Amino acid sequence: MTPLRDARAVAVLGGGQLGRMFVHAAQVAGLRVTVLEPDAASPAGAAADHHVVAPYVDTAALDDLAARCAAATTEFENVPADALRRLAAHCRVSPPAAAVEVCQHRAREKACFAAAGVPCAPHAVIDSEAGLAAAAAATPSLLPGILKTATLGYDGKGQVRVDSAEALAAAWQQLGRAVCVLEKRLPLAHEISVIVARGRDGHTVHLPVQQNLHRDGILAVTQVPAPDVPAATAEKAVARARRLADALDYVGVLCVEFFVLADGSLVANEMAPRPHNSGHYSIDACDQSQFDLQLRTLMGWPLAMPRLHSPAVMLNLLGDLWFDGASPAPREPDWPALLALPGVRLHLYGKAEPRRARKMGHLTVTAASAAEARATALRAAALLGLPPF
Ligand code: ATP
Ligand code: MG
Repeated sequence: MTPLRDARAVAVLGGGQLGRMFVHAAQVAGLRVTVLEPDAASPAGAAADHHVVAPYVDTAALDDLAARCAAATTEFENVPADALRRLAAHCRVSPPAAAVEVCQHRAREKACFAAAGVPCAPHAVIDSEAGLAAAAAATPSLLPGILKTATLGYDGKGQVRVDSAEALAAAWQQLGRAVCVLEKRLPLAHEISVIVARGRDGHTVHLPVQQNLHRDGILAVTQVPAPDVPAATAEKAVARARRLADALDYVGVLCVEFFVLADGSLVANEMAPRPHNSGHYSIDACDQSQFDLQLRTLMGWPLAMPRLHSPAVMLNLLGDLWFDGASPAPREPDWPALLALPGVRLHLYGKAEPRRARKMGHLTVTAASAAEARATALRAAALLGLPPF
């Protein structure tokens, strides 16, 4: 018997923290959420109304979701695009599979930047010995560089810094001779990101520009408003992110990361076809969060321009905070000391096992002024043993 489609049921592919926060936003709006995630103990699965424990490519599970749910989205960048296509045959799906395929592959992503007239880092694609030789010949202009795998990289994984043609060849071996992009290492003054939400009718809204600090390739701190970025640069970043969303005929939430170079110029780094770690502050500091925007675009609800009601600083809480120097056994950080600070909101993702470099949660500090938010966030960082920013 075919199950009855529930107009207030939505599905999300992926069980991580982004899915968990989407579940929360959808439930606020009275929707029922099914999470498809192969891991039985996942952050989103724990929050969802239903958790289907199956691989993303399980066709029976996908068909069952499509039959029950009015709409489906993803929180996981590397979800197989064919899973989205299969769902799209029966229910509303955003983001579109084709856009996800572009964002999943650094070489396609760079080609998309070029086609949309959005500058990105000088680079070369390495997919063969010949490509390696060609890149090595071009190396004077691309070195020092960063060799990045074209697919499946995140949080700085799948990246090797290279300073010479020899190091490049060794790095390509180290990365398993996978398709890679060699990028010139640029003199970054700052990093920023823009989150846009585009509806099926092409109407697009955006969150204010975020300024991001990475440590060891992982986002550490996000500040909004961006303290060091001129308004004209921020406007340019928003215009470029919108242009990319238009070029992809995108529906959903798209995050575009940019570098601001020492000379003030703006270079696109990469795109994520989903809400992004740098947008988490929007839950506490904006009248609509990035997850509310994901929901609105998915459901075809109107998009109103979000407003930042408080300056905010977000600190990522990695598993490292659970380990103090000598002891191999993890222990909880001193949350009560943090919560005693004004304007602190603690988000934990419900992950059972803390591991170094694993995203366990974040905290957002909001305040009446950016200076106050920053001062409190610096105190929070000091309490946690994190470096100042
Ligand atoms: P994410 O977790 O955001 O998906 P990722 O692993 O895909 O990260 P990138 O965003 O490509 O990695 O790079 C991670 C960080 O490394 C950047 O935020 C930046 O700090 C630094 N970086 C990357 N590419 C360059 C470059 N071409 N020049 C200088 N620094 C770079
Ligand atoms: Mg990145």
